[in-house]
Amino acid sequence: MTVHPTLAMSELVALQSDENPLHIAQGQIDRATAMLGLGKSARNLLRNPLREFHFQLSVQMDDGSNEIFPAYRIQWNDARGPGKGGIRFHPQETVDTVRALAAWMTLKTAVLDLPLGGAKGGVICDPKRLSQPELERLSRAYIRAVAQNIGPDIDVPAPDVYTTPQIMAWMLDEYESIFSRRQPGVITGKPLSVGGSIGRNDATARGGVYAVREAARVLDLDLNGKAAAIQGYGNAGSYAHQLAEELLGMKVVAVSDSRGGIYAPDGLDYRAVQAHKAQTGSVVGFPNTQPVSNEDLLTLDVSVLFPSALENVITERNAANITALIVAELANGPTTPEADEILHERGIFVLPDILCNAGGVTVSYFEQVQNASNFYWDEATVHNRLDERMTTSFEHMHRLANEYGVHNRLAAHILAVKRINEAMKARGWV
Ligand code: GLU
Repeated sequence: MTVHPTLAMSELVALQSDENPLHIAQGQIDRATAMLGLGKSARNLLRNPLREFHFQLSVQMDDGSNEIFPAYRIQWNDARGPGKGGIRFHPQETVDTVRALAAWMTLKTAVLDLPLGGAKGGVICDPKRLSQPELERLSRAYIRAVAQNIGPDIDVPAPDVYTTPQIMAWMLDEYESIFSRRQPGVITGKPLSVGGSIGRNDATARGGVYAVREAARVLDLDLNGKAAAIQGYGNAGSYAHQLAEELLGMKVVAVSDSRGGIYAPDGLDYRAVQAHKAQTGSVVGFPNTQPVSNEDLLTLDVSVLFPSALENVITERNAANITALIVAELANGPTTPEADEILHERGIFVLPDILCNAGGVTVSYFEQVQNASNFYWDEATVHNRLDERMTTSFEHMHRLANEYGVHNRLAAHILAVKRINEAMKARGWV
C-alpha cells in the first residue's frame, strides 16, 4: 500500500487560512486527528490520497478537430471499502478540488457508516458548450482511461456537478464493452433501465431535508410555513425546493443558479420554476419575482439556507450577515473554516456537507447492493432506509458535538476519522 510515486508530497503540505479546498480538507483532518490523539502514520495516511490518476483525454469534436481535456480520478482512502464518489465536469475544476472532494467523500461514507471509502473524479471541460455526441465521446474516453482502476470492488464513480444519469449510462456501457460482461455495480446514479435505483434522483436533497427535520427537532423549531432560500438549482437544489415544501411545509422564497437568482417573499412554486429552468436554461427571469444575486441570497431573512452549488460561498466576508437558523449544506465545501467559527459563535446550526448531502451516496450504496443481489427495492424501502441512515448519523454527530463541546462539522470529522482509523488499524496500516 503505497502513495502514487509521481505525487510530490511537498505539494500537499497544509496551508491554513486560504480557500484552496485541499488545504481546507487537510486542515479539517489534522484537527480531528489531533483531537483523537492519533499517531503520525494515521495522520499522514488520512491527509493524503492513496492513489491518483491523471489523464489527458483526446476527444474528437463535431467539426473533426481533436480537443484535449485534463481529467483525474483520485482515490483518497479505501480502508473501509471500495472507493466511492462522483465525477464532476466543470470548467473551473482543479486537481486540488478533486483531491478535496475525494477526501470529503472518505469522511462522508464514514459518517454514514457505509462500507465504502472515498474517491472523486473530475474533467476540466465546459459541458454547456459540448454537443450531446461530444459529451458522449468525452464520457466514454474518461472510462477507457480509468477502466482498469475502477470496479465494483475497487472504486465506484457516480454523478456530481454537471454529470447526469445519461452520462452514467454511457460510462457503464463503455466499461461493460471493455470487459465483455454486465457489471452494473461499477457506477451508480444510473437510469432505472440499466440498473439504477428508485429514489436516487432526489436522494441528495431528500437526505438533506431529513437532516433539517432532525435539526429542527433538537432545536425545538417549527419550520411549517417558514422561509427557505436555495443557492444552486442543479440536482440537489431543485429537488430541495420541492422537498422543503412537501416534507417540511416550508416556503422557498429565493433560488439561484450560475446566472443569478430570483426572490418572491410569498414563495416560489417549484413546478413552475423547474419548468422555467427547463425551458430557458436558468431560473433568472421567472415572472413576478425580484432579481437577487447569489451573494445577497445567502443573507436573506430565512429560517433555513441551503447552499447547493459550489465550494467557498460562505466565508469570513459574509458569515456575520447570515441570518438563517439552520444552514443545510447540500453543496460540498460551501463554508470556509473561518466562516465555520463565526457561524458557530453566532449560534447558527450548521448541517455539514459530509452529513447533509450524504443522501446521494447513501442511495448510491443502496443501488450497488441492489446491483450485487440483482433484486430491486420499491420506493418506500429506499426512503425508509435512507431516513434511518440519516437520522442515526445525525444523532451520532449531535451526541459527539455535545460530548466534545465542538461544532457539528468538527464532530462529524471526529466521528469519521475515528471510524476510518479503526479500519486502518485493523488492516495493520497504522
Ligand atoms: N457526488 C455525490 C457526492 O458528492 C454522490 C457521490 C456518490 O453517489 O457516489 O456525495
